[in-house]
Amino acid sequence: MLEASIDQLEQVAERPWQDVSAAVKDGYGVQAKGQSAAEMVSRITDDVLPYHGGNIHPRFWGWVQGTGLASDLIAGMAGAVINANTGGRDHGANYMERAVIDWTGAKMGMPEGTSGVLVTGTSQATVIAFQAARVRVMPEVRKTGQGSALLTAYAGEGIHNATRKALELLGIGWDNLRLVPLIDGQMDLAALRAQIAQDRAAGALPFLLVGMAGSVDLGAYDDLNGLADVAADEDLWLHVDGAFGAWTRIAEAPWRGLSDGIGRADSLALDFHKWMYIGYDCGLVLIADEAAHRAAFAARPSYLEAAERGLAGGDPWFCDYGIDLSRGNRALKVWTALEMYGEAALGAAITDNCRLAALMAQEVESRANMRLAAPVVSNVCVFTARADLSQEAQSILNSEIVQTLQERGEVVFSTTRAQGVVMLRAAITNHRSRDQDIRAAVAAVAALAALG
Ligand SMILES: *Cc1c(COP(=O)(O)O)cnc(C)c1O
Repeated sequence: MLEASIDQLEQVAERPWQDVSAAVKDGYGVQAKGQSAAEMVSRITDDVLPYHGGNIHPRFWGWVQGTGLASDLIAGMAGAVINANTGGRDHGANYMERAVIDWTGAKMGMPEGTSGVLVTGTSQATVIAFQAARVRVMPEVRKTGQGSALLTAYAGEGIHNATRKALELLGIGWDNLRLVPLIDGQMDLAALRAQIAQDRAAGALPFLLVGMAGSVDLGAYDDLNGLADVAADEDLWLHVDGAFGAWTRIAEAPWRGLSDGIGRADSLALDFHKWMYIGYDCGLVLIADEAAHRAAFAARPSYLEAAERGLAGGDPWFCDYGIDLSRGNRALKVWTALEMYGEAALGAAITDNCRLAALMAQEVESRANMRLAAPVVSNVCVFTARADLSQEAQSILNSEIVQTLQERGEVVFSTTRAQGVVMLRAAITNHRSRDQDIRAAVAAVAALAALG
């Protein structure tokens, strides 16, 4: 299995995604008859490895997906054999997780003592952060529920759906999320202040401001220092969705500057599995005020009481900082990647992804009929293949091009709607992509657009 896995990584460019045939799908039907390990290895090599989702390939830029690292293979083997449950108690994986949280908090510029917990991804991190924000304004809410309190939250238009979902799950509801208009991709701070004043006048309790570090459609960043000032003046909890974009913190100028001010957030949600390339799944919520984090989640019945010594010792326990009691060992793959590749190499890959997005923009602008939806600010490039056609014709053609290139196993773009047109979108969080991948992809789009 190890040899087949290494082959897969070495030949990743020659092994694109492919259709899962009916025979293969049928073969996944559970028979549970028992098989030898050798038979299992050959079945997995034949029926699992070829049918990946494409995101390990150098020409995959759809949605925002991470590309995985060879270090995951090393960490995965060790993680499988120790099978750590990181909900609590006194063992190595918990110390490692705290070290990973400390490193990340420091990189983000958050205060010393910042608390955190590794989670499935930014979606879960957002739920945890918003609950901490709510408990801060309603200390009894865990016991009494929210009742008739009208809590309101604020975010820019174009906020990721994870924010809506978290508000929905917490029973706050999207109707109480105010979407503030954007100016040049950033929340309009004057409109934000006006909306807060209007809500207060109407008897609402504004409690949460959500900033964007890397928007999902265009890779845009809010003015995070501006948001932190508003949050301080208005006594709001500032949360930043930095799912992928927080990691410009370890990139070079000018991209690093995009996330300036991120360390002033009360809470920050980010993923290791997107722009840090680490294998799925792994996200992190950071909360500046450890007591506020703990106040929102700690609750241990007597059978989980900590002891002074032995395996039931150790403090703190991660089950007091999030939703899960039993938890896997996500820290090991992060720690292995950080230690093996080093911050400089990871930061250089992030910088290079931004440079490649700028190169894609140049390639687009060099063609007469292609047009960018907006200037490229980070690692996301959105464009139409034929700006000379009607909006509807562009939408049909762009969607068709995206699907054709996917089906041919050549390039993965996704789509997004900008200026009323369905456009091609590349979010480059891929350390395997090179200049020639970008040039070939835009050339392939141009060839299909000429036919269209
Ligand atoms: C991906 C993403 C999310 C959701 O994160 P998951 O890790 O998929 O749960 C939230 N916000 C942004 C900006 C994202 O790109």
